[in-house]
Amino acid sequence: SQQRLSVTWTQYTRALEQHTRAVVTTTRELRSALECNDLRLYYQPKVDMNDGRLVSAEALLRWQHPERGLLPPAAFIPLAEQSQLIAPMGEWVLRQACQDMRQWQDAGLTVAPISVNISLVQFQLGSVPDIVSRALTDFGIAPHQLTLEITESVFEEHCEALKVDLNAINRMGVKLSLDDFGMGYSSLGHLNDYPFDEIKIDKSFIWQLSGRAYGQAIVKAVHAIAEAIGAQVVAEGVESAEHVEALQRLGCWIGQGFYYSRPMPASQWQIQLAG
Ligand code: C2E
Ligand code: CA
Ligand code: CA
Ligand code: CA
Repeated sequence: SQQRLSVTWTQYTRALEQHTRAVVTTTRELRSALECNDLRLYYQPKVDMNDGRLVSAEALLRWQHPERGLLPPAAFIPLAEQSQLIAPMGEWVLRQACQDMRQWQDAGLTVAPISVNISLVQFQLGSVPDIVSRALTDFGIAPHQLTLEITESVFEEHCEALKVDLNAINRMGVKLSLDDFGMGYSSLGHLNDYPFDEIKIDKSFIWQLSGRAYGQAIVKAVHAIAEAIGAQVVAEGVESAEHVEALQRLGCWIGQGFYYSRPMPASQWQIQLAG
């Protein structure tokens, strides 16, 4: 059995080495992706489910990898956070979103507000309010046109500096959205201490809606809480007409999901806005 153990150990260290090598390689590639302009922003609409009208859109990051093709954020955001590349990457996302809005405005299109996801790690690495305000100024975008989406884990940080930053962003007139709501545990008691304008109900709850009392109770509860703090509710992961109906019955009007549209590259988005 000692022999078996050592074989297992060798396999283990080999796997670990391979993993470490992959991390190092991908981190190096990610750095060059930033320099070579291989990152892309896709946009997905948030829709008024009553009439299908566009309310705003969320910018979602993609990596156009030279060999591996188009990669979703799950394949590289964690690495970007570990390697601190999330700071320049997050700044790129913000500026690209502002630049896209500028371009749409210059083309005479009615531009919906845009939401950008911000990693909490980014708040630790630099002054997010400064980066946001610079991006808005440089591209001449009004603050209310921009929303920052921050995940619910914001409450786990209990960090005064983070709260100061969020308040500064709120005072600038930039909107704040609480992402993936319902996934954490400690959030309810803290919600009122933060200036959120929007709450996004995580898709896992939307998918529990059909005929399930529990899913409906959650959506109802979130809706009541949002109302109490004056925030709007957005349902994520709306995939079917059944989802839409169930949400409407619960008084939920804004939806985002494949039922309405998949995330699209900026170029297609522009065509859609024009048409
Ligand atoms: P998220 O912010 O919760 O974004 C929603 C995710 O759900 C997106 O995945 C979107 O494509 C997907 N989605 C939208 N509607 C549906 C639907 O009806 N069904 C299903 N199954 N999925 C739907 P995506 O683009 O892969 O992004 C994953 C996560 O990566 C995002 O989750 C967000 O946390 C993070 N992320 C994306 N872009 C950025 C970014 O620029 N910066 C940072 N820090 N994180 C980002
Ligand atoms: Ca989001
Ligand atoms: Ca606000
Ligand atoms: Ca989400």
